[in-house]
Amino acid sequence: MEASTPNEEPVQIIYDFKCTSCGIDEKTHYKGTNPPFSRNIVLKYPSYVMKDPFSPPGKGEILVLGSDCTICGQTVCINKECSLFYKKNYCLDCAKNLIETFPVEIKNKLVQIKKK
Ligand SMILES: [Zn+2]
Ligand SMILES: [Zn+2]
Repeated sequence: MEASTPNEEPVQIIYDFKCTSCGIDEKTHYKGTNPPFSRNIVLKYPSYVMKDPFSPPGKGEILVLGSDCTICGQTVCINKECSLFYKKNYCLDCAKNLIETFPVEIKNKLVQIKKK
């Protein structure tokens, strides 16, 4: 009665990744901290990850494209003009709002980005 499908292919879920800051648009294969197609890679925070197209099969190399802002949840890429990582991941808008809570070196970084 029951249909057994032991050889069923796992569905490849594709996550649309779009940076709300610079607008970069990519397809990613995983969102989270522990990509199943990589070996021993655990990310510090949930990120959008794609398989590295230039890495030989079985190597498990990955590319991290970005992640969601801890505060507002907007998706931003890892470009330093789009996001800031300090303990958590922030989009630059939220980072600027929190600038007074960051240590001096992070503040300086932000001020430099603002000048552009
Ligand atoms: Zn971006
Ligand atoms: Zn934000």
